[in-house]
Amino acid sequence: MSVPLRRGSRAVPLESRAALAVLDRAIVRLLPTVPRPVVRRIADRYIAGEELDDAIATVARLNAEGKSATVDVLGEEVRRREEADAIVRAYHDVFEAIRDGGLGSNVSVKPTGLGLKLGYDVARANVETVVRHAAEVRNFVRIDMEDASTTDDTLRLYRELRELGLDNVGIVLQARLRRTLGDIESLSDLRPNVRICKGIYLEPDAIAFTGFEEIRAAYVRALEALVESASYVGIATHDEFLISEGKRVARNDRHEFQMLLGVRPSLGDDLVRAGEKLRIYVPFGRQWYEYSLRRLQENPRIAGYIAGDTISRVLSR
Ligand SMILES: Cc1cc2nc3c(=O)[nH]c(=O)nc-3n(C[C@H](O)[C@H](O)[C@H](O)COP(=O)(O)OP(=O)(O)OC[C@H]3O[C@@H](n4cnc5c(N)ncnc54)[C@H](O)[C@@H]3O)c2cc1C
Repeated sequence: MSVPLRRGSRAVPLESRAALAVLDRAIVRLLPTVPRPVVRRIADRYIAGEELDDAIATVARLNAEGKSATVDVLGEEVRRREEADAIVRAYHDVFEAIRDGGLGSNVSVKPTGLGLKLGYDVARANVETVVRHAAEVRNFVRIDMEDASTTDDTLRLYRELRELGLDNVGIVLQARLRRTLGDIESLSDLRPNVRICKGIYLEPDAIAFTGFEEIRAAYVRALEALVESASYVGIATHDEFLISEGKRVARNDRHEFQMLLGVRPSLGDDLVRAGEKLRIYVPFGRQWYEYSLRRLQENPRIAGYIAGDTISRVLSR
């Protein structure tokens, strides 16, 4: 898992900040032992809800705020074919609801949610079904990028779909991976639609940049290469430095900014006010646990949230 450097408030004395950072790191390591109901409560802001109606209501609210959305049906590392089939059906319902509601939203899919761990062909067939349905309703599918063990298969899947003539599909690249500039080069004949992000999965030094500034620099290099070679770039970040680099590098209408539901919404509002396109990632579903853990592990105030939740439960007793 990715554990970014924490940058605390300047008002907090250095020693206290150091102590907080140690506490944060300890809590991040212990998160998997935190009871699920507690994780659910403090991760609530990152998830639209468990049902499609929850996601649709969230998308409608975001649209009213001038933001578009990408809906993600939660579920990953699926090991049973029926579970993957259920996720395919859920996306079908998502497309219908987006169309019926006249909403501004596409979808994001995870290869392991659509069966990659059951075999490449299973995932390939399922993703193709979702992309074909999207094409029928004039929608778009973004294939999320998961941990490095899936990168080759995910890129292969994307290329094969594009070679079938399916253009309503995009890919994600992770700036932290050392291979990413090479991947941009080898995808360039497809003029891909790419979301660039730092990459949430903690990968070993041999294949990934691991320092905070190193990852930022790699992000800017990837963004520059994409602006040259891609058809469209989704600049996915909540890092103010990268947002301002995004504005500097992508001086065209072939880009948008992207953020996660519940993360730095006021920064998103600023982008919209400044006339930038912004898309919010809206996850929903009953399989909320793994996604929530990843989001909490990236929250620089995780210690405060856990402490706050514990204190309020003690008080309510
Ligand atoms: C739309 C979108 C789609 C993504 N898709 C993928 C994907 O397909 N594959 C993948 O590997 N990764 C994906 N990511 C995650 C991404 O790789 C990063 O892990 C994540 O965005 C955090 O990196 P950052 O650029 O925001 O920088 P950070 O330095 O991590 O964050 C910048 C600041 O944002 C705030 N912040 C960040 N996260 C949180 C949080 N959870 N809670 C509260 N505050 C927070 C903090 O103030 C932090 O200092 C996606 C991110 C976005 C926005």
